[in-house]
Amino acid sequence: MSTGRCLCGSVTYDVAGPLRQVIICHCADCRRWHGRGAAMTCALRDRVTIRGGESLRWFAVDAGPERGFCTRCGSSMFWVAPGRPTISIPAGTLDDPRGLRAIAHIFCTDEQHYDHDHPDGVTRFPAGPSPDVAAPPGVSP
Ligand SMILES: [Zn+2]
Ligand SMILES: [Zn+2]
Repeated sequence: MSTGRCLCGSVTYDVAGPLRQVIICHCADCRRWHGRGAAMTCALRDRVTIRGGESLRWFAVDAGPERGFCTRCGSSMFWVAPGRPTISIPAGTLDDPRGLRAIAHIFCTDEQHYDHDHPDGVTRFPAGPSPDVAAPPGVSP
């Protein structure tokens, strides 16, 4: 069981299942939302329990993916795409993210210099990740 929360603690969650390793998304939307590349883990939606939902608000550009954030402290918390069984979670919101490592950078065509000043040897995709990289444990690509 993994647990996490926003900065103020109004929104908490736990994940009763495995987390995917971290993919860092450099798309322009994530850049605006997180200020730089977004380091996201991922799990099956039905394994994630969210508490403090009254402080959680969802935002989407047009009919795109929805981003959940805490209305009290502004922490970005979740990312869900229509039709996908998964929910992406910023690794930094976990209470203990130490077991996770980066497995890919995606949308690297939008990556900014300040985000790749320190090459890390992790696979880089110009756009989205390959399905085997994107799938959480237990989901066949
Ligand atoms: Zn908060
Ligand atoms: Zn992105």
